Amino acid sequence: MDKKIIAGNWKMNGNMDAVALMADALKNIDLSHVTIVLCLPMPFVGASAILSVETGVQDCSAHESGAYTGEVSARMISEIGAKYVIIGHSERRQYHNETNLVIAEKAKQALKSGLIPIICVGETMEEKQAGETNTVIEKQIRECVPGKGAIIAYEPRWAIGAGMTPSNEEIKREHGFIAEILESMGLGGTPILYGASVKGGNAAEIMSIPNVDGVLVGGASLKAEDFLPIIQAV
Ligand code: PEP
Repeated sequence: MDKKIIAGNWKMNGNMDAVALMADALKNIDLSHVTIVLCLPMPFVGASAILSVETGVQDCSAHESGAYTGEVSARMISEIGAKYVIIGHSERRQYHNETNLVIAEKAKQALKSGLIPIICVGETMEEKQAGETNTVIEKQIRECVPGKGAIIAYEPRWAIGAGMTPSNEEIKREHGFIAEILESMGLGGTPILYGASVKGGNAAEIMSIPNVDGVLVGGASLKAEDFLPIIQAV
């Protein structure tokens, strides 16, 4: 991969002033070596015109259209100018009971509408301690990734927002494992991001690990003072 991808997940945080402040902080960034994607809360994506970077959202419907009150289709998201959509984030799996099957349907809708799905996979602490990490990740990838055009984000669920990360050796092993699975599915070359507790202080080291094509950043993507050092780490 020639360009690293740095994706920010704002979750349900921020406001229009925060988007404007981030737009201002990012306006002079050299984008020749890095693709920056801000995955904003859905109502703020309309502000993408003021952003010099790519925009995305954090979910889309598994349905194309119809009587699904409250849902937003991938086509609608694409029409307002977003290019990316996070799918199957652990918070969606945990709080909205999203299964691999639903996540696969969402990813299909995204691809069909020209969006790039960032499909999240990762194990819980219980699964890690039971030695089930690879089994869980392989099942998630085989069941959730419908084909070419997606990005994978490996996000160990126990490390998200926890201020701790796996060791570099663990990240190397899991990213290598994910790359092998994708290869076996005919999806070699699919970018694989690492996510969970990425900060300015660890971003350069993490992005130098083989098969780490970029990072998905939660908390540290909300303020320019935290996000810019991650971008500068590329
Ligand atoms: C996330 O929720 O996708 C994430 C990576 O969060 P954090 O960086 O805050 O751990």
